[in-house]
Amino acid sequence: MNFISGVIDLPWWGYVIVILVLTHITIASVTIFLHRHQAHRALDLSPGISYFFRFWLWLTTGMVTKEWVAIHRKHHAKCEKEGDPHSPHVYSLKKVFFEGAELYRDESKNTETIERYGHLTPDDWIERDIYAKHSKKGIGLLLVINILLFGPIGITIWAIQMMWIPVMAAGVVNGVGHYWGYRNAETPDQSTNIVPWGIIIGGEELHNNHHAYPTSAKLSSKWYEFDIGWMYIRLLEKLGWAHVKHVPPVLTLDEQKKTCDEKTVAALITHRYYFTQELKRAMAADSQKLFTQDLLKEIQSMWEDKNAKVEELAEKLEHWCAKVKSLQVTSLENFAQKLRMSVLKS
Ligand SMILES: [Zn+2]
Ligand SMILES: [Zn+2]
Repeated sequence: MNFISGVIDLPWWGYVIVILVLTHITIASVTIFLHRHQAHRALDLSPGISYFFRFWLWLTTGMVTKEWVAIHRKHHAKCEKEGDPHSPHVYSLKKVFFEGAELYRDESKNTETIERYGHLTPDDWIERDIYAKHSKKGIGLLLVINILLFGPIGITIWAIQMMWIPVMAAGVVNGVGHYWGYRNAETPDQSTNIVPWGIIIGGEELHNNHHAYPTSAKLSSKWYEFDIGWMYIRLLEKLGWAHVKHVPPVLTLDEQKKTCDEKTVAALITHRYYFTQELKRAMAADSQKLFTQDLLKEIQSMWEDKNAKVEELAEKLEHWCAKVKSLQVTSLENFAQKLRMSVLKS
């Protein structure tokens, strides 16, 4: 060992790999532990792996679990409206992209937010006496470790590690993920899938899919989409360290089914964004534009009426399908037929 290079001496590309691996572990900890496990309870994690994620997040980010979870849950609760801690439609994209970390820091000081939305997060002695109380000591320790391991270049590695979450999570996901990209689901917010391959930000790139099914442990939904966080979760599950609680039920067609029943209602409500989009497409293909707005409103009332009995909804839906069929517009007839056959794969 010498003091110029530290314990580990690498060619330049070796340091690039080190940076990519270390920041990727941090991203995986954020998406698997903070986001999917803690904030949304989409999966359970074994104590051992939870301890690892908590330690790693303390060491490399200084973020406190309860604060992160509370701010994120508030984002879902108030999405794109006043009170959303980091909406590019409330603030501006520029503000969220360049000052996302500052917005996060400001909200973390709002004790009302933390108490109201931060329930069921770790509250043991390690959390109270170390991670929360000395939240910034971890990143200080990391700087020392980096210098010992890599020499002066360890400072550069550290600086990049410090920037990674503010840029990728606070800037790209919270800003761009509500602004640019494509949408699979017509969610009431402006969320987007930034790219179909969720690798660099651990799968969080698929942000519109996430807003469509916030409690799902899996963020990819189309065959061409890839969620690396989900791949890790499956791997952890094989090792017995994770247990998936929620994934969106898959929509399939039962060719034998000729009328709407309770199963159709369940399929429609679960995949309401998909059906809204399909119906809009079918209506757009109708050159006469008959009854169009009414058709959409009527079908939307199916999931807006929270008190309706499922049998009544099934009857109403069948009535709706019969009406749509009688319009004799091919695109709408096809939609109604497909809806009648729709079921959730169990
Ligand atoms: Zn969002
Ligand atoms: Zn979320």
